Amino acid sequence: MTPAFAHSPLVTAPVKSRLHILVGGTVQGVGFRPFVYRLATQLDLTGWAANSPQGVIIEAEGAPERLAALVEALRKSPPASASVASVEISTVAPRGDIGFAIGRSHEAGGRTAQITPDLATCADCLAELFDPSSRRYLYPFINCTQCGPRYSIIEDVPYDRERTSMRRFPMCAACQAEYEDPGNRRFHAEPNACAQCGPRLALWDAAGGHVAGKHDALHAAATALRNGGIVAVKGIGGLHLMADARNEMAVRRLRTRKHRDEKPFAVMFPALQDVKACCQVSGDEEALLTGPARSIVLLRRTVACVAPAVAPGNPLLGALLPYAPLHHLLMHEIGAPLVATSGNITGEPIVINEDEALRRLAGIADLFLVHDRPIVRPVEDSVMRVICGRALMLRRARGFAPAPIALEHASSGILAFGGHLKSTVALTHAGGAVLSQHIGDLETIAARATHTRTVDDISRLYKVRPRLAVCDLHPDYASSRAAQALGLPVLSVQHHLAHVAACMAEHDIRPPVLGVAWDGAGYGPDGTVWGGEFLLVTEAGWRRVAHLRQFRLPGGESGAREPRRAALGLLYEAFGDSTFDMTHLPPVAAFSSTERTVLRAILARGVNAPLTSSMGRLFDAFAALCGLRQCASYEGQAASELEWAAADLASDRCYEFALRDPPQKDGAIIVDWQPALKMALADLRAGALPGPVSEAVHNGLASAIAAVAARIGTPRVLLTGGCFQNARLTEAAVRALRCAGHEPVWHQRVPPNDGGIALGQAAWAAWREQGGQRPCV
Ligand SMILES: [Zn+2]
Ligand SMILES: [Zn+2]
Repeated sequence: MTPAFAHSPLVTAPVKSRLHILVGGTVQGVGFRPFVYRLATQLDLTGWAANSPQGVIIEAEGAPERLAALVEALRKSPPASASVASVEISTVAPRGDIGFAIGRSHEAGGRTAQITPDLATCADCLAELFDPSSRRYLYPFINCTQCGPRYSIIEDVPYDRERTSMRRFPMCAACQAEYEDPGNRRFHAEPNACAQCGPRLALWDAAGGHVAGKHDALHAAATALRNGGIVAVKGIGGLHLMADARNEMAVRRLRTRKHRDEKPFAVMFPALQDVKACCQVSGDEEALLTGPARSIVLLRRTVACVAPAVAPGNPLLGALLPYAPLHHLLMHEIGAPLVATSGNITGEPIVINEDEALRRLAGIADLFLVHDRPIVRPVEDSVMRVICGRALMLRRARGFAPAPIALEHASSGILAFGGHLKSTVALTHAGGAVLSQHIGDLETIAARATHTRTVDDISRLYKVRPRLAVCDLHPDYASSRAAQALGLPVLSVQHHLAHVAACMAEHDIRPPVLGVAWDGAGYGPDGTVWGGEFLLVTEAGWRRVAHLRQFRLPGGESGAREPRRAALGLLYEAFGDSTFDMTHLPPVAAFSSTERTVLRAILARGVNAPLTSSMGRLFDAFAALCGLRQCASYEGQAASELEWAAADLASDRCYEFALRDPPQKDGAIIVDWQPALKMALADLRAGALPGPVSEAVHNGLASAIAAVAARIGTPRVLLTGGCFQNARLTEAAVRALRCAGHEPVWHQRVPPNDGGIALGQAAWAAWREQGGQRPCV
């Protein structure tokens, strides 16, 4: 093995040499072998290239300087969609092949090769799609080695047509010829197909009756959408529910049928200029919109270009561009933005199968635009936002999953079950962890079934036998119970520690760090509900060094849906019984006098009113006090509205969150919200609008982070947990920390919300196993 080819004596050897090269990383399903073929042919090398479970294997023979040029090109100029992680080279005896061949896939060995995420239609395929002289003119399933479905059609690895859901479509002679022609851009494009041999489109009515086929199906679906209909459209990783985004009645009908009151819908726009016509789009945001993952990007709206019901009261809009040929064709027919929301019953995972769609989306969709290429697993649209000039992942799925995250020295077989909301699962293999696509909240039977299937799927695909199950400390989470039921050793990892570990893993950071983990709720080892946490992670372990001052949440879990309850709990902690006289305050006034009597008793006795240090609930409380929202219709709504209220303000107005010394030695510093509460009440009494109050809350919390960081003294401070989806908070905290000489770190590729919990659990377990050099509990 010669790890660095430049030092190999082969370079100066006069005879022909042969190298065995293993290229690791994202190298399958991205046109890598055709790229190697062209390169080798140009360089007059013989040999072969093949997919293997570890990556692409190349054997190349020829003049040493030409071999060196091949290796150089593999490292420095791989295909655009590829990401080369490693190039391992060894010398082998020359064999004297004739020509260069694409060999059959090697099935032996472990399965560490990456499974490629689904890729949006490339520019070449798009041009062909609308070229009347192309044989794939208007064919909705056009693809090539640079684009098309991948993860959503893979049944097993290595990635070959016979192990995808395309195996049921034997290629016609013309497609087969392309597939076998090394000079063709569809050379070994596994989902290669055309109208003669490939998947077909159909339009069904709500009873599953055939309405139209092929292009007529598309045309009829477009007509229905233009007329205000709701159409379920089978895409890459599942079905969307689509409706004309400009038609208020159509969008309202969709909300009513889906039982989704106010949670914003994403909108698919025909083209980038259409997005720019109604939203602010920075260069970074444009890159996300048009990148191969084509995620939903949260953008600031500038003009009202869609119906109010699309995202009521929301200054942001989740925009995305067409990413499947079918979307491009539909958009071409309609030429207007469409609501594109997950085809599901609210709370359940996205539907992937057209027959199932007829049952589960009955009463929601008027028509079903479907096709016969099976989707192997649900992969929803990813959601991103740009914060502090960097991409922030909010939902990690299509286009990103299952790209692995490097975990140095991680050993194989740690299976992490994630949390309860926005759940994902993670599995370690040698040197890395695979984080599954977003599954969803485990509130429904359907979601729990998908979680179970994902656990099985990921272990089977990567051929890793789990040996350790990792779950949340909360004993009643469905994910924790599933981990316990497996019969393996189980490690429980505290929720906020998992958030911090996820951020450390994403950025490959070693201790010591101060992790600021702020979210709605996580089970604390002391039996209280945590959520406004500062955790110090060192080589020796972790410790809660500070937290938000606790208050009672009357009604417990149900309090999360009613910001007025958080406000009442906060007021009661500060002012006791006199809270109930403050009927001039919106959250107090929002309860009837009978309800107030009950709540008073609950708070006085502390029964069904758990103590919490939740930052999410603190945001809720301030939103309720500002009169923004008393009852939320979706998770995080009140906190989002508090964030939006301050959107156009940029002063340094700041409320005081005071640091109180720990009540006992080695205890945690208390971040006391009471001074801030008093200042806010005074401002509101003086007639302040929600905007300035919100701004002072955000700035005050950012200052509190910097103050705790100064007391603890670690240079590196990690910002993690669902609260850091809030751009205003993250930007203020990053600024405050930098001013104080700290190095703030926040999420980019892994969600700060509970979508990152599984990765954090896996990372923590892996570090623990390494003992000594890494933090252990
Ligand atoms: Zn293409
Ligand atoms: Zn064909």
